[in-house]
Amino acid sequence: MHTDNNFESLRDGVRSVVSQFDSRYWQEIDEARAFPEKFVQALTSAGWLSALIPEEYGGSNLSLVEASVIMEEINRAGGNSGACHGQMYVMGCVVRHGSQAQKEALLPKIASGELRMQSMAVTEPTTGSDTTQLKTFAERKGDRYIVNGQKVWTSRLQHSDYMLLLARTTPLAEVKKKSEGLSVFLVDLREAVGKSITVRPIRNMVNHETNEIFIDNLEIPVENRIGEEGKGLKYILDGLNAERILIAAECIGDGYWFVDKAKDYANQRVVFDRPIAKNQGIQFPIARAFVNVEAASLMRYEAARLFDAQQPCGAQANMSKLLAADASWEAANVCLQTHGGFGFAAEYDIERKFRETRLYQVAPISTNMILSYIGEHVLGMPRSY
Ligand SMILES: Cc1cc2nc3c(=O)[nH]c(=O)nc-3n(C[C@H](O)[C@H](O)[C@H](O)COP(=O)(O)OP(=O)(O)OC[C@H]3O[C@@H](n4cnc5c(N)ncnc54)[C@H](O)[C@@H]3O)c2cc1C
Repeated sequence: MHTDNNFESLRDGVRSVVSQFDSRYWQEIDEARAFPEKFVQALTSAGWLSALIPEEYGGSNLSLVEASVIMEEINRAGGNSGACHGQMYVMGCVVRHGSQAQKEALLPKIASGELRMQSMAVTEPTTGSDTTQLKTFAERKGDRYIVNGQKVWTSRLQHSDYMLLLARTTPLAEVKKKSEGLSVFLVDLREAVGKSITVRPIRNMVNHETNEIFIDNLEIPVENRIGEEGKGLKYILDGLNAERILIAAECIGDGYWFVDKAKDYANQRVVFDRPIAKNQGIQFPIARAFVNVEAASLMRYEAARLFDAQQPCGAQANMSKLLAADASWEAANVCLQTHGGFGFAAEYDIERKFRETRLYQVAPISTNMILSYIGEHVLGMPRSY
């Protein structure tokens, strides 16, 4: 049913790993609100999460198009990339802006799975989407920075050795542009957690390991700053197009999963002496959901192609994220409706996937922020905030 015949061997490779984790595995993990450690380990050992690490550092240096196919296939096969996508792209900041020493120290170990760096602390409780207003401050004292502040929704922290941290290094009042004066740091969590970083897990709607963190006099050696002081927001933003395209691919994988599941059930469920798929009230929404997933997938390929060609792709990356998140959410709703009451039973996996895919209307960037970007930067309308 999938109309894209490309990347079949890549898809087969990913699927052969993900298929080792059946629906029972995911139900148990979800119920226990546990981290799918074996699943992440298996993907790491098979090399799928080091796709974007250059070969000289032990990765496979695949294109973003191929990396997006990996994420898509994980979700299409019933898995949840949300548990491991950070391991694929958080290190991109080190690849693009890190020093030679940082690359040599981290990338080979991330590629082999010896180190995990799948956590990124940007969002703060009081400032939300208005990132330049963030309050966490890193004060330079000799060869170290002393950091104080608070972050929220810092995901996968308990399953990471290193975390990327965005903090202000020059007070807002002293910078010409509010996007300046922010810096990015590598935080060694093995040393900091329980001492200068206090972690409070947030019980949430999905099984997404995420936390509120309190930073109290955290010392970071200067050599752990990535790139130049004050340019941190630019470095983080540089990575966001890749992140958006990969998240779009996850939504596309979810979308295909929902459509397949809905179509199969509609074909075999007989009510009033006919398969429910015969009713256009059931068939058309599934067909429409499929059309929308396919369209979102094309925009994903276009965005990833531009990214790989090092051409501007901000508009396409944002549009692919919006289209894919909408398509997967629509497909989720159609799939649930097609299953009637059974859609609510955990053993069908639909309610879990329904919750998981809903996240992408909000994170890592909410739909309104994408529409604002398109309105302002693509269509030339005034900034509304
Ligand atoms: C499960 C989960 C995992 C996450 N993981 C991470 C992570 O690992 N690292 C990290 O840094 N962050 C993470 N986040 C945070 C996520 O990126 C933010 O929740 C998201 O960017 C929205 O920010 P906010 O929640 O502060 O919403 P707010 O900024 O408070 O916005 C609330 C609502 O108002 C809307 N809104 C705000 N301003 C405007 C405007 N000017 N015009 C129109 N609408 C507007 C928004 O679109 C949104 O719908 C995660 C979030 C969740 C839920």
